[in-house]
Amino acid sequence: MKRSPIRRVSKKRAKQSAEYLRLRQNFMLSRPFCEAFCRNGGQPRNLAVHIHHMAGREGRLLCASEHWLPVCAECHDKIHKTHVAEAYEKGFLYEAKR
Ligand SMILES: [Zn+2]
Ligand SMILES: [Zn+2]
Repeated sequence: MKRSPIRRVSKKRAKQSAEYLRLRQNFMLSRPFCEAFCRNGGQPRNLAVHIHHMAGREGRLLCASEHWLPVCAECHDKIHKTHVAEAYEKGFLYEAKR
């Protein structure tokens, strides 16, 4: 089987990635704490280390910060792996309106 060549990132996507990094930096500064499951714990919240894309990160959603949630690694894992149903219930996961 022939190995498929690694597709180069399109110019548009590269520009979007740069924009994403810039937006992400500002976002993390303004919302430094995890806002997922830690939020209602009563104890000090974990620092956010990831941005969770509540509606996914396809296309324009990558940079749509209204759909972002600052999360710690632990909660991010819960959202995608162990507490998926709960994440939907709490609104951490949803389909974006198109
Ligand atoms: Zn958390
Ligand atoms: Zn996520």
